[in-house]
Amino acid sequence: MLKQQAIFCIECRAPIRSRRDLVTAWHWLAIRPFHKACYDRSLKGLQTIVVHNYPINRIVGNVRVLSSCLIICCPLGFGLYRFPPSPIEELIWAISGPVLFVFVLVILPRLLSWLWYERRLPT
Ligand SMILES: [Zn+2]
Repeated sequence: MLKQQAIFCIECRAPIRSRRDLVTAWHWLAIRPFHKACYDRSLKGLQTIVVHNYPINRIVGNVRVLSSCLIICCPLGFGLYRFPPSPIEELIWAISGPVLFVFVLVILPRLLSWLWYERRLPT
């Protein structure tokens, strides 16, 4: 049922037909769909460097999500998620909590991009 709904490019207002042509990026504090050509024309370049509106669903987004997952899972490998924590572990948690929060903010937009746009389009 969701696959029937069209997704329209924010830049040119034309429907996006496939995942290969879809680029999602932060635009005015929201995740917006673009045609690849429209993204390249309007957001890529100097504005991307200044505003950090890198593609969420392209290779850059996937690499960011993968690296975030690795950084989040590293404390698991070192056994830092034990309970009750020692004072050193509490200090590590106090330092790493905000960092983990930022990394979750990297993973969540990728997940939302897939839920809202990518899964509704054919490959
Ligand atoms: Zn477009």
